[in-house]
This record gives sequence, C-alpha cells and structure tokens, in this order.
Amino acid sequence: MKTIHTPTRILVADDDCTMNLIMQAALQAYGYEVTVVEDGVAALAAFHAHPADIVLLDVEMPGLTGYEVCKKIRLMDSDVPVVLITGHDDEASIDRAYETGATDFIVKPVNWTLIRHRLRYILRAFRDAAQRREAETKVRRLAYFDALTGLPNRQSFAEHLTRELSRKKGKTTSVQRLAVLFLDLDSFKNINDSLGHGIGDLVLQWTSDRLRSGLHSSNTFSRPSYQTKEDVQPIPLARMGGDEFTILLPSIEETEDALVAAHRVRELIGRPFVVEGQALFVTASIGVAIYPDDASDADTLLMHAETAMYAAKDNGKNTCQYYSASLTKRAVARLAMESALRLALERDEFFLVYQPQIDVVHGTIQSVEALIRWQHPEKGLISPLDFIPLAEELGLILPIGAWVLKTACTDAMRWCALGLNPIRMAVNLSAIQFRNHHLQDDILAILAQTGMPASQLELEITESILMEDATSALSLMHSLRDHGMHIALDDFGTGYSSLQYIKQLPLSKLKIDRAFVRDLPASKADEAIIRAVVAMAKTLGIRVIAEGVETSEQYLALAHMGCDSIQGYFFSEPLSFEKMADFLTNPLVE
Ligand code: C2E
Ligand code: MG
Ligand code: MG
Repeated sequence: MKTIHTPTRILVADDDCTMNLIMQAALQAYGYEVTVVEDGVAALAAFHAHPADIVLLDVEMPGLTGYEVCKKIRLMDSDVPVVLITGHDDEASIDRAYETGATDFIVKPVNWTLIRHRLRYILRAFRDAAQRREAETKVRRLAYFDALTGLPNRQSFAEHLTRELSRKKGKTTSVQRLAVLFLDLDSFKNINDSLGHGIGDLVLQWTSDRLRSGLHSSNTFSRPSYQTKEDVQPIPLARMGGDEFTILLPSIEETEDALVAAHRVRELIGRPFVVEGQALFVTASIGVAIYPDDASDADTLLMHAETAMYAAKDNGKNTCQYYSASLTKRAVARLAMESALRLALERDEFFLVYQPQIDVVHGTIQSVEALIRWQHPEKGLISPLDFIPLAEELGLILPIGAWVLKTACTDAMRWCALGLNPIRMAVNLSAIQFRNHHLQDDILAILAQTGMPASQLELEITESILMEDATSALSLMHSLRDHGMHIALDDFGTGYSSLQYIKQLPLSKLKIDRAFVRDLPASKADEAIIRAVVAMAKTLGIRVIAEGVETSEQYLALAHMGCDSIQGYFFSEPLSFEKMADFLTNPLVE
C-alpha cells in the first residue's frame, strides 16, 4: 500500500507536447510524480526501467500505438492500471481499448478538474483488488495446505484427484489408469509417546521432504506428467492428517506399476532418520486403489486406498496392499463388530467361565482361571481371541477388564459363601490395562468391595507388557506383589523375553504355552525346551504350569518332566460358575 512518503508515480505517453506539458503540470499539482515520454517505444523503456503505479497512453502515437504499448505492458505487469487517452468515443475504440487490457479510457479533450478524481478512483479500485487477491491467497493457503509440512491437504488432494478423473473420463481414446497410494506410518504413536511430539513433528516433516524429493526424482515414478503449472502447486502428494499421506500416480500403464511405485515409496521411508545422532527407523504401510478398476470417483478411490492400507497393517505392517472388494466387506463387518462391542458391556452380554489348574503332585485344584466369553445377540458365542484385540484397539479393554476382575472376585467369594475352600483366582490382564496408571488402585478397590484377600488373586500377564516400558512395568509388578497378589507369566515361550529377563520379574508362576505341549510326547525338541524351562524355574522358585493339556500321554509326559500343575481339556474345559462349584465339590481328580 502507498504511504505519503512515496508519491504515486504516473507515466504519461503522448506525442502532443502541449498535452504532455499540461498533463505534467496538472498532475504534479495534485502531488503525483510524473514521467512524460513522447512515443510508445520510450513509454515501454521508461516502464521497464521504473514501473509506474499508473500509465496514461495516448492511442495515436508514431511507432507503437497506445493499444500496442498497453498490450506489451500487460505482459510485464498484469495489475498496473493502464488508461488509454483517445480522441474517439465510439464503441469500437472503447472495445478495442478493453481488449488490449486497458483498465479505463479518457476521451479528449481532457477535463483537467475531473482527471484527478478519475485517477484516484482507478488507483483505489485496483489497490482494493490487490488486497482482495492477497487475502484470497492467504485463505487458499489455509484451506488447501497443511501448516506443518507445507504439503497440500486432504481437501486439496480430493479436488485435484477429481480434476484428474474428469480429465480421464473426457478422453475417448484407450482408458488410462490412475492410482492413489494411501500411506500411514507404522507405530507413529510410539514415536510421539516415547520421543515426544517435537520429534514426532520432525519425523512428519522429514517424511514429507523425503516423499517430495522422491516424487521429483525420475526413477521413483514412471511419468511426472502432473508437474504442470497451475494456480495451485502441482499435487502428486498430500498430507491427509496425522501420519497419513497420499500420492497420486496420474498415469500408469499396468496395475502392477502402482505396486512397484508403492514399494519404492515404502523403501524411501524405510531409510533411517537421524535424531540427535541416533538412527530412527520408521516404516510405512501403503494401500493402493486404482481407477477405473476399483472406483470412478475421488471419494470412493480414497476410501478404498485407505481400506487397503488397513489391510496392509493387518498383514504385519511395512508392506503394500491392493484394494479388493473383499476388503470392504471385511471393513463393514469390523465396523459392525465395533459398534456391537461398544454396547456389549451395558447390555450385559459378557460372562465368565472358569478352568481349573490341577496340582500334579497332590491332585488338587490349585487355582482357577477366569476366561471371558461374549454372547453376541446375533452371532452367538464369540471367542476372546476374536474380540480382545479389537477391545484393546478401541480402548474398551479398560472397562471390560475391570468388569472381569470384579466378576471373578465376586464369584470366588460366592464359592466361599457356599462353603467351599477359598480358591486362588487367576485373571488375565491385557498389556493395555497394565499400562494404565490406575490399575493398582482399581484392583485394590475391587478387592475391598468384594472382600477378597489379595493373596487369593493371581494376575496373568504376557511378555508384551515388558516391551514398551519395562522399568515401570517391573515396578508395578513389584508393587502388586508387595500387596500380596501373585503374578503368572502367561503363554511363555511365544514372546521375546529371554530366560535372563525372567530372573528380574517377581513371578510366582510360569505358564508354558500350548504350542510346546501340543506335540508331546513325540516332539523331543519341545521336551528339551520344557525340561530347560522347568529347571530354570525351579532354581528361581517359580511354579511351572503347562497349558492346553488334552491327553493322558501329554499329562504323564509333563508330570514326568517336573511340571507343577496342568491346565487343559484333559481335566476340564472352562466351566460356568455353577458347574465350577460342582467341580470344586467333587474334583474327580485322583
Ligand atoms: P489364555 O490366557 O492362554 O487362556 C487359555 C486358553 O486356552 C483359553 O482360551 C482356554 O479356553 C484354552 N484352553 C484351555 N485348555 C485347552 C486345551 O486343552 N486345548 C485347547 N486347544 N485350548 C485350551 P480362550 O478362553 O479362548 O481364551 C483365549 C485367550 O484370550 C486367553 O488365552 C487370554 O489370553 C485371552 N483372554 C481370555 N479371557 C480374558 C480376559 O478376561 N481378559 C483378557 N485380557 N484376556 C482374556
Ligand atoms: Mg491366561
Ligand atoms: Mg495362555
């Protein structure tokens, strides 16, 4: 915007010297800074040397006419107001003035009083337009670009994709394919949680830089045809939000090309980032959807690419996956399961069953394990293997876990009330429950409410508890043990923890996973492993229990190897509260 310190500069070009003199005197009197020239060529040179704020051109000049000069000035500056001064006020001359890009025209003889107001008006109307354009650009940036990475955003990508699609549909020649890649960083939450959001943001910025430069290097993608100049910067790449990015391959020959490109992108991300001298490895899962094979509109293509990305995650992450119609069916089923699971607790659809753990030496019931079941209103009985992972993902495992603890403790006390001997109750805890800071308080409150002594409660945990924050997991385990509870390590042998690790844990029981029991007594390898685990556990004073014992041969082999207890269908399947009460009364164990 102009300030009073920089007067408005006016360039006047007229071959009529008298006219020039009067014009200069009049305009200078109004405070303008005026440059006068006498032909079109001089006008262009003057404008080139010192662009003016407004240009007044006589139409009739030797050499270049006012129209021609106006056209050329427009090529240099599309915004500067150019006013043509003409002797003719016929429609054709006026039309011609506008066609050459003139802003306005003044008809000779010039009215010297009015010209001042006329120029002021023209100047203001343009200034206004410039401001409006600036504001529009700002709004556009906010609406179409992501602030953190500077990449186009979801809206921008969707619009660009729609344009590309309609361009393709308009073509009558052979159908050319287009691919959308939907990329999501794997375990990005862990980076945020363990290294902080600052590093998380950096990783997102580096990722976008890497993708941006990868997209422009010719060997990453076959055809950079999207690199055309448009009012919005070319958008082969966008950040959808969070750790999600999309890439558009506007022209691929074969469907396979998209997967090749997706794997290249995955490799691009897979190279380590260096944070404070340390290498940080980030991987990505990528879903691919293709026009016209999978969908013909932008929204559905994007949705399918996202569905495929989730399937890539399910396949073990750090991989790429095509969309297929069956994936949508799976997504729909999952969504239905999700909403049913959210309601299951309040609709009272969960119940517990109990499986006894038999002491090998004394033939007594050493404890019972509580196992959850879901009675789905339409699907019937659902295994915890099918809904616990979903409950963990949705955060529902916390209320469900609390319900299990409370119900199991209540039932243990109900058996006592029936005159049965107190029985140790083993309850499975998810790693997510274990990470919850309120876990210990919640358990203590449940024990107080139900009247169950802490020493009667055994918590079954898995090695995954140690994966993320072993130090705090360890101190929580010690604290629970100090309150009198017992801790059992479930599914032992399927995780990563070394025997060395086990020494540090305050365990009272180690549960050998069914995988090592299944092929007994034939498998010598399993036998060797079980013998080693039993020997180590004995030196640490930890009891060993074998899970999934189904046959007398397995039972005898395990007893022979020195296992302390046995759990499995050989003795009993998981039982209802009432059946378990009967079993506790008449254990049928010799
Ligand atoms: P787990 O804790 O290892 O439980 C043992 C699983 O083996 C149970 O499966 C049990 O029914 C099954 N089983 C017992 N004896 C035999 C046998 O002789 N042969 C075979 N083939 N299987 C046997 P279930 O009840 O389906 O539970 C599966 C898993 O779900 C459990 O494995 C546990 O990790 C989880 N789970 C169950 N209830 C809960 C719960 O209340 N909370 C949490 N967080 N997880 C639970
Ligand atoms: Mg268990
Ligand atoms: Mg187990």
